[in-house]
Amino acid sequence: MTPAGRFAPSPSGELHVGNLRTAILAWLFARSTGRRFLLRVEDLDRARSGAEVLQLRDLAAIGLTWDGEPVRQTARGPLYDAAIGRLLAAGLTYECFCTRREIQEAPSAPHAPQGAYPGTCRNLDPAELEFKRSIRPAAIRLKAGIREYTVTDVLHGTYKGSVDDFVLRRNDGVVAYNLAVVVDDAAQGIDQVVRGDDLLSSTPRQAYLASLLDIPAPEYAHVPLVVNHDGARLAKRDGAVTLGALAAAGVTVAAVRDRLLASLGLPGGSLERALAEFRPGALPREPWVWPGS
Ligand code: GLU
Repeated sequence: MTPAGRFAPSPSGELHVGNLRTAILAWLFARSTGRRFLLRVEDLDRARSGAEVLQLRDLAAIGLTWDGEPVRQTARGPLYDAAIGRLLAAGLTYECFCTRREIQEAPSAPHAPQGAYPGTCRNLDPAELEFKRSIRPAAIRLKAGIREYTVTDVLHGTYKGSVDDFVLRRNDGVVAYNLAVVVDDAAQGIDQVVRGDDLLSSTPRQAYLASLLDIPAPEYAHVPLVVNHDGARLAKRDGAVTLGALAAAGVTVAAVRDRLLASLGLPGGSLERALAEFRPGALPREPWVWPGS
């Protein structure tokens, strides 16, 4: 299988120019290295009816091409079950009954990074386990054997981040993003992960999980986000930030594409022209402030 890169949007609404810029970068990284480019609809959570169609429409409108049909996470339950089953068989999971509030209020383990799961349910005895099972359904957590893991990123170099006993399956039965992303990337032959740098801090968890499942870590490139004038991550409330809203304000798709390419130091006209000039090392490392419509 030819290796692949990907873009994996959550269909929670229309894509905004920040998402489109990340998608263009993922495409440039994949195509410039002879990879296939795949789309994955991350619809396990927060999916809004109709959003997927609009997202695919806008990705095509901006000039992206992809290989094969997009896959949907909701159709891939057996793959996730198999991975969790493997971890379970290896003794690398446990049931957790904690509510969010209980986790917040629990004293944190010594030297644990902020927000790390304190391990409350890690060693329940059979009686406690039986009692807790009778009260509420369990989430499944990873029994992490380490506290930190180091990954390599094309733009960030070596990045060390914390790993805790993170959730693999929530107590409502939905598979957690960190598990799904690792399983899907491997199953789709994806060995290059380009995405927003807001996900860099989750990457050590994912790479560690991949290692437990004998999956080689992909090449990572966490790219800077698009922000508003206050430096906050771009959002719908920042005005005309979708292709639809920008078109209504008189900004054509071609003009949006060229503006995004210019923000990356690349020539406009078409994505193919930009591809010919694309050099990962020359990419800006700072967030880009969306100038508005
Ligand atoms: N679905 C995630 C998002 O839209 C991206 C996940 C990923 O690229 O790994 O933020």
